[in-house]
Amino acid sequence: LIIPDFHKFTSTIDQMYWNARDNIHGKVATYIPQLARYSPNLWGIAMCTVDGQRYSVGDVNYPFCLQSVSKPLTYAMALNDLSPEIVHEFVGQEPSGVTFNSLSLDYRNKPHNPMINAGAIAICSLLKQGVNLADRFDYVTSIYKRLTGGEYLAFNNSVFLSEKETADRNFAIGYYMREKKCFPEGTNLMEVLDFYFQLCSLEVTCESGSVIAAALANGGVCPITGDKIFSASSVRDTLSLMLSCGLYDYSGEFAFKVGLPAKSGVSGVILIVVPNKMGFCVWSPALDVWGNSVRGVQFAKDLVAKFNFHHYDNL
Ligand code: GLU
Repeated sequence: LIIPDFHKFTSTIDQMYWNARDNIHGKVATYIPQLARYSPNLWGIAMCTVDGQRYSVGDVNYPFCLQSVSKPLTYAMALNDLSPEIVHEFVGQEPSGVTFNSLSLDYRNKPHNPMINAGAIAICSLLKQGVNLADRFDYVTSIYKRLTGGEYLAFNNSVFLSEKETADRNFAIGYYMREKKCFPEGTNLMEVLDFYFQLCSLEVTCESGSVIAAALANGGVCPITGDKIFSASSVRDTLSLMLSCGLYDYSGEFAFKVGLPAKSGVSGVILIVVPNKMGFCVWSPALDVWGNSVRGVQFAKDLVAKFNFHHYDNL
């Protein structure tokens, strides 16, 4: 067993849950009404180990959108379907140093990395090129479904419609990228943007999200079904970029203090991966100034303060 004394471990997780629950800082995202309606009091932690041990506490069966957490997953799909060489013709591996939705490209005129909007939009243009949008969506959701081991995965159409309605910046990024020839030949920009908004609008719960995190911790194999979804090298590349770019403009500090690959989204979710051990999906809608869940970040810090999970804890 990965965690020999599971009861002791989970009671520590419980303490961290209650500890973070007292933290009432932060603000819920308000750029679309569908996110603004979430209560800041919601708070859940779910975990799944690579050998399938599960634990969860709090609001763990409450659906929320993946938002930017879709970015590493779609990136992993592209690596797995194409190759790192092809994918990285279109997107870099460098922390951008600018906000996630910035209208900026790197020295090659490519998006800095796949964890920011420009990079994620580029990745969307690579997946199942030449196939119609409906089939692309079906393809990607079928992979997500395998990642959750068949547990909760849904599409929130009102979030999708609102995202699309308020997406001036993403349209601007898309046009700018088209001008700079960031897309493969034959790309339909409007379809790619729709695809990007749709993937942001996929819903999980903490429970189902923890299975996704655990599949990443497990090198691309779902720990509850045994299904091999991604190659180990696709997951390695994905985790590397989650470590350096996963928490918006807090990524460097998070890598320093927590030292674990993670990805946050504007819905208040953070996927935290402890490679070869376990995955966490934590969720609470109140965000800090960088756009990361206040309670989620606190939990990640508490976790590595208690257990030696930091990248460089075992020197
Ligand atoms: N859906 C939003 C956007 O594309 C935010 C995604 C996120 O950062 O979670 O601008």
